Parts: sequence; C-alpha cells; structure tokens
Amino acid sequence: MKVRIHRGTQEIGGTCIELEEEGKRIVLDVGLPLDAGESSDMEDLLPQVKGFRQKDDSLLAVIISHPHQDHFGLAKFIRPQLPIAIGSAARSILETATFFSPAGASFKNTIPLKDRDPFVLGPFKIIPFLVDHSAYDAYSLLIEAGGKCLFYSGDFRAHGQKAALFEKLIKNPPKDIDVLFMEGTTLGRKSKDESLTEDDLVCDYLNVFKETGGFCLVWTSSQNIDRIVTIFKACKKADRQLIMDLYTAEILRATGNDNIPQGTWKGVRIYLPEFQRRDVKRKKMFDIVNRYRTNRIFPENLAEEAGQSVLLFRPRMAGDLESAECLKDASLVYALWEGYLKMDSQRPFLAWLARNNISMTHIHTSGHASSSALKRFAESLNPKVLVPIHTFHPEEYLGIFPRVETKEDGIWWEVN
Ligand SMILES: [Zn+2]
Repeated sequence: MKVRIHRGTQEIGGTCIELEEEGKRIVLDVGLPLDAGESSDMEDLLPQVKGFRQKDDSLLAVIISHPHQDHFGLAKFIRPQLPIAIGSAARSILETATFFSPAGASFKNTIPLKDRDPFVLGPFKIIPFLVDHSAYDAYSLLIEAGGKCLFYSGDFRAHGQKAALFEKLIKNPPKDIDVLFMEGTTLGRKSKDESLTEDDLVCDYLNVFKETGGFCLVWTSSQNIDRIVTIFKACKKADRQLIMDLYTAEILRATGNDNIPQGTWKGVRIYLPEFQRRDVKRKKMFDIVNRYRTNRIFPENLAEEAGQSVLLFRPRMAGDLESAECLKDASLVYALWEGYLKMDSQRPFLAWLARNNISMTHIHTSGHASSSALKRFAESLNPKVLVPIHTFHPEEYLGIFPRVETKEDGIWWEVN
C-alpha cells in the first residue's frame, strides 16, 4: 500500500490522505485548512488528487471521518458523482446545516459508515470505529490492503460524553497495525484544562447558573452535541429551562438520537433571533418552525423568564437581546477554545459584554485527546510505525511515543 499525505503532517486542519493499492485509490478526509481566509479562493486549496475534478475510475471514494470543516470542508469541490463515505448522522447534520449557514454540506452519493461494520472498496477493506470527539458521529478508520494494515485515528478524545468508546477500543485494539496515523492537536499546547471531563464541566456550569441572578448565556458551537448535553444536565440541576435557536434545535434533531435533548422536549424553548426570523421567511421554512410551535419563546417574554433560563448564545443575537432588555444581572459562559477570543474580530463582542455589564467565565474542555490519553492509545495499538497527523508539533511525538516517523506533505511512500 502506498500513502501520500496531502495536508496534515505539520498542521491542524485541512487533513487529506491518499492511499493506493493495485492501482486503485481512496482518500481519507478532504478538510479545509484552518488558515484558509474567507476571501481566498477556496477551490484552489483542493488537493491535486486524480479523480477529484475529472472522472477517473482508479479513485474509488472519499471517506470523511467526521463532520468538522477541517475534515470535510473542501469536499464540495469534488465532482458530486464520487462516492463519499460518512456516518449517516454526520451527513444529516451537515445537510441540515446547509439551510442555516455556508458551513454545511450536501452529498449526493454516499456510503454510510457504521461502528465496527466493515465494507470493501476494491482492494481496500475498511472498518470504522465510532469514537469520542466534540463532533457527533466521528470515526477512526482501520484500513487493510495488500497484506498491510493502517489505522487512522481521525479526531478523538477520552474525556467526553462517549469516553466509554475510547476505553472499549484500547481494551480490545485491532492487532498488527503497520502504520498508525495519530492526531496530536493538544501536543505543544499548554492547556490547563486537558484532564477535565464533560461531567466535570456539569458542576462548573451549575455553579455559574446558581450564582447568576439574571439570564445565563452560554456561547458554544451548535454542533458540539456533547457540550449541549452537558449544559442541559446543568440546566436540569439548576432548575433553569434551556433556550436555543432554530438552527441548534434542527442540528439536535438531525442526530436522530432520542436520548439527546430535543427542541420539542419539556424544559427546552425555541427562540428565533431576528436574523433567523428573516431567514425563515425568505426560505419559507415554516414547516420547520412549526415543529417547535408549542415550545416557542418570543423576544417580549425573554426579560420575564431570564432568571429561570439559560440561552445558547451566539454573537449575532447580541443586538436583539439588548433590545429585549433581558440582560440585567446576566452572565455569559464562553464555551469554545480560548484562542478565538483573542482574535481582533471578537472586539465588538467584548465591547457588548462591557456595555451590558455582563461577567464572563470560560468553561471548556478540549475536543481532542490529552497527551496522557494519546500515550494510552499509542501503547494499546502498538503500531510498527506511528506517523504524526493533525498537529502543529510533529517533533513533540518523538519524545513521547516509540517508533515515530515524521512525514512530509505531498510525498508518496510505501507502507513496509
Ligand atoms: Zn474534529
């Protein structure tokens, strides 16, 4: 089996790995690089893989490990007839997101990934393993071809709501791995919160919800389903209802999982900020709104219910909330990676906080494995060779794990 990593040997984001056996090829992930500016010509970033743009029978499929932009973001530039293997819920989440934002994706010809359910593409046998990650329906991939065995970790962690999946995998790992591609997002980051579990966070959220007299706002990603579960648990304990917008409610619905909080549940309310209300009108999404009609909360009711509520916040709501005069004694929990807050683009948000006298707390844990979890993972899978991927610090691997071989982007090499 031959391998060419197009992107990811020295960076987080934009991951794309091409595999070849007996003249047939598959590609693992086709992500958007993190530094791809909005204005840059995104299409030019699509890796030079034969069959991405023009038909080429030697390219069999692309496998998308999970629905994060840096793993699927360039797939929209691939010819739509090429099969895309992706989890069914992941596909549905991305499809739903297309109604609301340009960050979604819609795939025509798909193969569903299922936990530990093998499938064959030409000379490649693929076994997906569902993993714990901040994206829903995320997989690691075991790939066998030409008598060689390769394991791609995708993005994963061991401290989320699905941590049991990590333990299950390392307790009974696949054997005889020739090459392990292992993500190392957290390596080289001096993060103090790396060992906090999602369950630890429930207590931290609860404390803020209890101490706040007014509205509790939480800014998180609507697609971080684990985090929404965490916040909902804390809401229950604090006896506060959870208010979310239509987009978030629809993403939760797209998981197809009845155990995950839904916009139709008791204790959940649906709020349409002005930009979404306009969107609904323009795109005539009235049926979607109708699903939640009994749980709707309107701007004029926000102030009176603020003290018993938690709102899943996004900055585009800021002006509406000010107009609704519901921010007296409010607090905000920032539940994303702290790096984003330091960007210049966040200045208006910080000014809004100050203007409204809203205190901010940061309660977050990474979507990625800590170095101790990575060590347990690498020890368990015990590969002949470990290749760093999805990391800004491949050199850090050398001091932590045995049998590391760092690679370069764009170069073909053989699995030995
Ligand atoms: Zn990810």
